Parts: sequence; C-alpha cells; structure tokens
Amino acid sequence: MSETVPGTRLTGVAASEGVAVGPVFVHVVRELKPERENISEGEVEEELGRFKAAIEAVTVKLAATAEKMREGGSEKEAGIFEAHAEMAEDPEFQSEVEERVRGLESPEAGVIAVGEEFAGMFAAMEDEYMAARADDVRDVASQIASELMGGGPSGLESLAEPSVILAHSLAPSDTARIPEGMALGFVVSGGSRTSHVSIMARSFGIPAVVGVGEALEDALGAETAAIDGNEGYAVVDPGDDILSEFEQKQRDADMEAAALEEYKHTEARTKDGRRIEVAANIGSAEEADGAIKWGAEGVGLFRTEFLFMKRPDLPSEDEQYEAYRSVAEAFGERPVIIRTIDVGGDKDLPGVDQPEEENPFLGWRGIRMCLDVPELFKPQLRAILRAAPHGRLRIMFPMVVDNVELSAAKEILEECRKELEDEGTEYGDVEVGVMIETPAAAIRASDIAPEVSFFSVGTNDLVQYTLAADRGNERLTRLQTADHPAVLDLIGKTCEAAREAGIWVGVCGEAAGEPDMIQKLLDLGVAELSMSAPSIPKAKKIVSEL
Ligand code: PEP
Ligand code: MG
Repeated sequence: MSETVPGTRLTGVAASEGVAVGPVFVHVVRELKPERENISEGEVEEELGRFKAAIEAVTVKLAATAEKMREGGSEKEAGIFEAHAEMAEDPEFQSEVEERVRGLESPEAGVIAVGEEFAGMFAAMEDEYMAARADDVRDVASQIASELMGGGPSGLESLAEPSVILAHSLAPSDTARIPEGMALGFVVSGGSRTSHVSIMARSFGIPAVVGVGEALEDALGAETAAIDGNEGYAVVDPGDDILSEFEQKQRDADMEAAALEEYKHTEARTKDGRRIEVAANIGSAEEADGAIKWGAEGVGLFRTEFLFMKRPDLPSEDEQYEAYRSVAEAFGERPVIIRTIDVGGDKDLPGVDQPEEENPFLGWRGIRMCLDVPELFKPQLRAILRAAPHGRLRIMFPMVVDNVELSAAKEILEECRKELEDEGTEYGDVEVGVMIETPAAAIRASDIAPEVSFFSVGTNDLVQYTLAADRGNERLTRLQTADHPAVLDLIGKTCEAAREAGIWVGVCGEAAGEPDMIQKLLDLGVAELSMSAPSIPKAKKIVSEL
C-alpha cells in the first residue's frame, strides 16, 4: 500500500445517489500470503508472543460480534461467531503453529499453512456439514494471519462507526454483513451501475461510486473520505475547501428531496392520462415499510435470494412463509411480485452447494438451478402459495430462456399446489410471470406470452447478455446501458408480443429508475416501472411531466 496523498480524487461510475463524508473503512479481501516466511533463532520467543496476542485479539473481536448479534436477535449468526472464536482458540491448532514457529517459520506462514491443513481435513470429510466447515477454518486462519500482518480482520460485520467503505469488490454477501446504518458510502474499484453492490446501495439510499479502478490502491491509507454518488467521485482526506463544497452539496440534496416529497404518494400518470404503476425492488421483508413510505405502489421485484444471504443455511418453508406473508400484508391490495431464488452469477448463497464455473453468468443460475434442485425450489413455492391469501402475490421466474423451462417450473408449482390441497393447508392462487432478461426470451417473447400473466424486463441481465458485456466489468461502461438500439429493440419486441397476448410488461432492471430511460420505456409500451425505493418520487415526477 503506498502512502495516501490528502485530497486524492477517485473517479468512477455514479452508482448510487447522495453525498456523504466520514471516516474510511478499508475492506480488503487479502490474498492469504505471508509477508515473511522465516524468522531467526533469536526471534522465536517474541514471535510466539505475537502469535498468542493475535489469537487473543481475534477471539475478543469474534466474541464481541457474537454478543452484538445476540443482542440484535440474530441467535444463529451469534452461534457462528462463537464457533469461530472457539476455532481460533483450538489447542491443537495453536500447538501445531507453535511447533512451526520453533522450527523458524514465521507465525503468519505457520497460521496459513496449518489453517490450510485443517481446512483440507474438513473438506475431505464425507459428512456435508463437516466438509462445509473448511471455509470457516480458512476464515478464522485468515483473520489471525491478517492480525499478525498488521491489518486485523476485515470485520465488515463488526463495523461500529458509520464509515465510507473502500473495497476492491463487495459481494452481496459482504454488503449484507454490514450492520444497519454503518455504511455511509461505498467506493469500489470494480463494478458498474448494475453490479449488485450498486443495486443494494441504491435500495438502501447509500451513495456509491464504483469502477474507480487502480486509483483505489493509492487511497487505502486514507482516514476520511467525501463521496459524491451523483457525480461519481470521492475525495480522500479532503481539505476544508472540499468539506465546505460537500456541505453545500448536502444542502442541495436536502432541498431536492423536499421538492420531491409531494410526488411520493401521488399516482403516476402521464399528461395524456396513461397510468403507470411505480413499484419498488426490495431484497428483504424489512424493506417493505420503507418502500411504502417512499411511495411504492407495489413490489415489482422481491429479490428473495438477498433475503437469505445473511444466514449460513437455507431458511425453512415456514420462515419463508413468514417473510412473504409480512410483505403481502404490508402492501395489502397492492401487488407484490416475488421472484424465485436467483443464485449463481455473482450471487452465491450459503447453504447451496455451487460448483466452480468458468463463466458463472452463463452458468447454473436462476431457474436452471431451481429446476435441478427441487429441495430448494419447492419450499419456496409452497411458502409463496401459503402466503398468497394474505395479500396480492405474484410469482416471477428469473433467467427463463424458453417455454421448456417455464413449463417445468409451472409443473412444479402445480405439484406444490396439489400437495397443499391434499394436506388441507390453506393457500391462495398466484399469477405467474417471467423475467425477460435473456435475448432468447425477448426474441421469442411471442411463444412465452400466452403462457403467463405478465412480463418484467430485467434490463441488467438483458443488457449484459445482448451486448456480451459483463455487468460487473468496469472497463465496459459504454456497453452497460439499456439505452442501446439492440436492447431497445428487444424490449420493443417483448412489448409487442405482450400486447398481442393481452398481458402487461414491467421493467424491474435498473433502467426503470433512470431518468433518461423512462420516456423511452413508456414509448415502447411498458406499463410498470420497478426500482430501488428512493428513486420512486423522482420517477413519478418524470412520468407526470411526460
Ligand atoms: C435484472 O437482471 O435486470 C434484474 C432485475 O435481476 P438481477 O439484477 O437481480 O439479476
Ligand atoms: Mg437478472
């Protein structure tokens, strides 16, 4: 890490609106590599002492995190951190490392080697649960090694001071670990507007600048940062002039928000009277009330996989039922579209065994995985059917390519319905729709339209698959927009097929909330726009002025 020059400016993609100033927290996914391999004879005692101190520091942090989780009602997560603390203190692990240090290996090299050895032993076990512990061992070993190398564990989950987070990358599971209110902003070297870190940032109203590239390296030593998610830049260790500029920006943002207030709870209607439904994308049941406050007229996309990322295992049918039911009840008469689990690509789910893939975005994703793993799919479908009488639920399948997949998915849904019927369990009917997010589905939308009640265009994936441009690659900004003739043609084709079949089309990809895209989407025939909740008031204003 080179020294950070105060006032260094990082420029990237404006991924989530808003401005913020605060202390920096660096989230580094360390490559586990010891800084020193060997020590000298005279250093042995001192290094053994450092090793003991590192273990103690990591154990104390893990125990503190466990306690915080327990206080917050997250019993299960608390258990994980306690188990990690126990692993850190494991006498066998300690004595093996100590032996290596006495053999003149550096403690960090010893921790990494013994951690790998232990992890390998777990990984080789037949029992799936035990095999999965290999990652826990690696995690704990990496925390101790990081502590020894002066960085301390990354500790996103124990962030205790609201901070601007600097990172090379932030996976959805990383952002899900950050305690509420502790992220003031994200500055990320990779990614684009449609990477999941950007999507999550927008949902939570956290300013984000992504794709700043290698410039991030020069900023990792900073203590404070000012971030402008509207214009797409951040300044580290800002001087007084920048700070007063940011204070002004904050006042302007507050004024704009106040001016949009009146649109929150009005119905969006174009000047010629066309009614457009403006809905929210949510990722957890807890977001429902906030979305309603922002003026959501329904949920156009409930990303259910986000709901499960905070936990180490899969939620049961009953737990899912409770989550869907609470969103259904919160929205009452207003429709809620629950998208079935869409893992794969850049989203992995603890508790689902995912293979290493060369091209995860072209791999075992979304409906493909669900059709292959009924023990994942069926509890979710049953939970949605059971929650249906409590509101107006719809089901939407992701990543569908053709009617073969759609029919298979509908067949499983029908099987679930029949099971509930036979058991005498209460359930309700749901409309079924698909996401149009593969070029195949858009090109042949006329085959699919007669089989469903609605389409929702997932522009994030439709763009990446149509333009062959990875949605997370910071070098491809020009190709990461739905405002490309090839993509617009496909959306047009989708709307045409829908019109003929008498069904409606929504858009739930990020384009739905982009001010410059709204007119284009409505011109093509889109009837519903679903976006991160904080974007709703502005979208309603734009619609009402068209
Ligand atoms: C999309 O692809 O546009 C979409 C809404 O789904 P996700 O971003 O979750 O892949
Ligand atoms: Mg998608």
